[in-house]
Amino acid sequence: MTDCIFCKIVAGSIPAKVVYEDDLVIAFHDIAPKADTHLLVIPKEHVVNLDDLRAEHGNLMQHLLFSIPKIAQQQQLDGYRTITNTGEGGGQEVFHMHFHILAGAKLPGF
Ligand code: 5GP
Ligand code: ZN
Repeated sequence: MTDCIFCKIVAGSIPAKVVYEDDLVIAFHDIAPKADTHLLVIPKEHVVNLDDLRAEHGNLMQHLLFSIPKIAQQQQLDGYRTITNTGEGGGQEVFHMHFHILAGAKLPGF
C-alpha cells in the first residue's frame, strides 16, 4: 500500500526507531508515546486490522503474537499492556494492523 505510513516504515522510506525485525514483523517506538515505553508491533504485510484477517493469516498472526513477549524480554519490560484498536469506533487511526506494547510507571488502571 503506497499511501500507508506503516508500509513506508516497513519499506524503510520513512524512518522509525526499530527495536525488532524479522521476515514477517517489525517493531518500533511509537512517535507519540503514551507511556514510558510505547512500542508498535506490525506485520510487514499490509493487513488493515483484526476484521481484515483471513485463514491464510494464521501463521502470520501466530508469529506476531509470539514476537510480543520476545520483544518485551529484549526490552527488559517488567510487565506490559498489549492493545490493538480495530476500526474508527475502536480508536484506530492508522489502518495497518498494529499491536501497542505499553509499559512503565504511567500506565493508568484499566
Ligand atoms: P491507533 O490509534 O491506530 O491504534 O494508533 C496509531 C499509533 O501510531 C499512534 O499511537 C501514533 O502515535 C502512532 N503513529 C502514527 N504515525 C506514526 C509514525 O509515522 N511513526 C510512528 N513511529 N508512529 C506513528
Ligand atoms: Zn500498510
